[in-house]
Amino acid sequence: MRFSKAFIPTMKESPADAEIPSHKLLVRAGFIRKKASGLYDILPLGTMVIRKIERIIREEMDRAGAQEVILPIMHPAELWIESGRWEVYGKEMIKFKDRHGRDYALGPTAEEMITDLVRKEVKSYKDLPLNLYQIGRKFRDEIRPRFGLMRAREFIMKDAYSFHASDEDAEREYWNMYETYSRIFSRMGLEFRAVEADTGEIGGKFSHEFMVIADTGESSLVFCEKCGYAASTEKAEQLKPEEPKGRDKEFKSIEKVATPGIKRIEEVSDFLNVPPQKVLKLLIYVVDGKPVAVAIRGDREVEEAKLKAVFRGSEVRLATDEEIEKFTGQPKGYLSPVGLKLPVYADFTVIPMVNFVAGAGEEGYHLINVNWGRDFEVKEFVDVARVVGGDPCPRCGSPLVEKRGIEVGHIFKLGTKYSEAMGATFVDESGEEKPLVMGCYGIGVTRVMAAAVEQNYDENGIIWPVEIAPFEVIVIPVNVKREEVMGLAEEIYEELKKAGVDVLIDDRNARPGFKFKDADLIGIPVQVIVGKKAQEGIVELKVRKTGERREVEKSCIIEEIHNLLQDLR
Ligand code: ATP
Ligand code: MG
Repeated sequence: MRFSKAFIPTMKESPADAEIPSHKLLVRAGFIRKKASGLYDILPLGTMVIRKIERIIREEMDRAGAQEVILPIMHPAELWIESGRWEVYGKEMIKFKDRHGRDYALGPTAEEMITDLVRKEVKSYKDLPLNLYQIGRKFRDEIRPRFGLMRAREFIMKDAYSFHASDEDAEREYWNMYETYSRIFSRMGLEFRAVEADTGEIGGKFSHEFMVIADTGESSLVFCEKCGYAASTEKAEQLKPEEPKGRDKEFKSIEKVATPGIKRIEEVSDFLNVPPQKVLKLLIYVVDGKPVAVAIRGDREVEEAKLKAVFRGSEVRLATDEEIEKFTGQPKGYLSPVGLKLPVYADFTVIPMVNFVAGAGEEGYHLINVNWGRDFEVKEFVDVARVVGGDPCPRCGSPLVEKRGIEVGHIFKLGTKYSEAMGATFVDESGEEKPLVMGCYGIGVTRVMAAAVEQNYDENGIIWPVEIAPFEVIVIPVNVKREEVMGLAEEIYEELKKAGVDVLIDDRNARPGFKFKDADLIGIPVQVIVGKKAQEGIVELKVRKTGERREVEKSCIIEEIHNLLQDLR
């Protein structure tokens, strides 16, 4: 393609609403334009990247035995009513009526649509297993669309759904998709981790999120470099500490001390000159309307997703000040486990604690040398603390690494939730009618494009991984008016095209500095600079990622570029 004819509107300034590098750079480099909140035009360069991402996904999904379909984006309400999600899905679903007054939604996900297709066609175990996928638009009226394509209201998703005769077969396919996703993101040249994810209300242990590692990621994850354990912090487990032997021999006598106006953990820690690790934090939560007292070491935080899972609740929140008074009869800020009316659930971090500080249950006082077991009973030790970097791996004990990540894919074993609700059954070998066992597997195609930039950029612009770059090579004739320069540039351009390389030639009559800036901004992996030495048949190759430059003879250029691209893959 010729730059002079291409629609690549680059710009100097970042859009005012762009908070993260990928959003700024994709706009500045002419890949996307904002239409309205959460809605984007994807321009030619962006479309090329999307098509390459889709191609990798298609190849790997097909190789894994899945089959592509195209289902309507307009979803009839009846299907969502049948599954029970028409009301439950909430405001993210965009609903509308047709001219006859019938209700529809713009599909935010397609479990209902696919289950409806399969229940009508699949009758017997002989028709199974089946894995169907589509790559298409999804609509979610996100409460806070932001970060450009990262959290949009209309976006492209690859969604796959599989159907099985048994739980074991669904499990087999789950791991097949796990491997497939790992291949997909590796091929795209992204640094990623598959983390154990919270399964929410469905429960069970089969859910992994694929996270592209990037500082601006909305999710946090921990992983173990030794044994490979990886989990989102909403789910990551703690290694349960042993109760120290002879712990009770260290017990000192409990005392009440005046701590006027001192409430927060840091204040208590400063005032009494003890580290926050020696202060007990007591929190009152409301789980599905019932009070729950949770104790945790002063320097740690409760992870509400874990708390929710431990208590099998569907709604978890901190109690209000009035509720705390009502449930405990104690003032907030001085809550004490000693003499508390509620049973105390203590996080694992409390197990090794001895002679610690806790509230005294009355305004202006704390207790020192408190010990669980002696001064109050722990109803149960539970794992509810948010795991942080440096904590021991729950599998092997090595220190965990904590990073931020962008969720680009999600695989989930659904079981029979949808098939039961929608009467999707099959007849098994013994003639018995059973619900289909399902799995679902999504990839955010447009989000992958943003995530790739988030992981690969510098102060000059984007640095595309070769596999998903809009072009692999850009040829830059420094001065288009010089015949020997333009002649050689054209020659190299034609040869590269013939060799099957995706190449762009910057044939614009513009200052060299201007063209170099654009080339860096757009992020094409290899630049061929044709300048002063054109007459001698020598050009310069520049690797965008490293900035490395080298002079190359015209006769070796194709081979050199091939090798370079190979190395960069
Ligand atoms: P999130 O927690 O980020 O909202 P989700 O759990 O709602 O994601 P899924 O329903 O699992 O996402 O959708 C599958 C994939 O679609 C996600 O892994 C993500 O890559 C992508 N995705 C979801 N919502 C959006 C969005 N608003 N904009 C762009 N991509 C999205
Ligand atoms: Mg979401």
